[in-house]
Amino acid sequence: MRNILGVLLISLLLVSCGKTKEEVTVTQTDKKKHDFAIIIHGGAGTILKKNMTLELENAYKDKLEEAIKAGYRILEKGGTSTKAVAASIHVMEDSPLFNAGKGAVFTNDETNEMDASIMEGKTLNAGAVAGVKTVKNPISAAIEVMNNSNHVLLSGSGADQFAKEKGLEIMDPSYFYTERRFKSLQRIKDKEKTELDHDEKTAFYDADIKNSKFGTVGCVALDKNGNITAGTSTGGMTNKRWNRIGDSPIIGAGTYADNATCGVSSTGWGEYFIRGAVAYDISAQMAYKKVSLKEATRDVIQNKLTKLGGTGGVVALDKNGNMSFEFNTAGMYRASMDDKGNLVVKIYKE
Ligand code: ASP
Repeated sequence: MRNILGVLLISLLLVSCGKTKEEVTVTQTDKKKHDFAIIIHGGAGTILKKNMTLELENAYKDKLEEAIKAGYRILEKGGTSTKAVAASIHVMEDSPLFNAGKGAVFTNDETNEMDASIMEGKTLNAGAVAGVKTVKNPISAAIEVMNNSNHVLLSGSGADQFAKEKGLEIMDPSYFYTERRFKSLQRIKDKEKTELDHDEKTAFYDADIKNSKFGTVGCVALDKNGNITAGTSTGGMTNKRWNRIGDSPIIGAGTYADNATCGVSSTGWGEYFIRGAVAYDISAQMAYKKVSLKEATRDVIQNKLTKLGGTGGVVALDKNGNMSFEFNTAGMYRASMDDKGNLVVKIYKE
């Protein structure tokens, strides 16, 4: 009899322990962590401390802080996540440090062709531009496409024309020239001229892409009304040809937002992010598998993207204000701020 009672007691304890644990997990997942929050990146890649001067490192950190604070101030005052994303991205687009707007990389034709996209998680409304050459702030053109056109993605001279008609700031293409980016192109072109056979050339390009720093910029914000917006802006990849378009203006690859799950902005070797539908996959894993933001971003970047051969990372933020930086490269320029004003600015792995 005593034995039976003992077994019953232990079983009851086990059942109640199991239940409590399950309840705790559910509450944790659904608990609002922050009323508003913002997270940004300035590109991922082979960013190693040994290759950086203290001066350059500080310049990046200062710009990241300036950018995130521009968006933060808007959220703090109750502004929309879209306005916050635009403000943060504008600061990075206007800086020559990042591969977007003023610091955009050069194409094989020695021009600058920029891509950008934006998505709102409340309505799943989105806008994007690809291959624009004159728009000072391509993220603003993406917002115009989202708010004031029947389309999602405009490209080339038509997109430039659209931006001009909407009254956005238009620049002479020479505005986008920076010596640093031009030299990067020349380095690749010099290498191209050397006597490499086809396989060696392919290997060189692969290594070059893997070693390059993807200076694309991106931002995801959650506002006080619970609305998530994600945005991304880039000059693409150095030496690109044939009007190549990467993942940054592709909704579901470079950018995605859904108030029910999360918002994501990507940076890295764009072709792989398109093939893996990276930004959407993170949101889908949260919706279908009910996993946390951290689990979803880790699986998509560290397992799926890595297996495919892709390099890069994402910044992501969920409806409860949880935030995640995830990348499989040596570094990623990144920053985050929560509703208590806690600021994180980082470059390398740790
Ligand atoms: N993802 C961008 C592209 O492939 C590059 C980057 O992230 O820097 O165009």
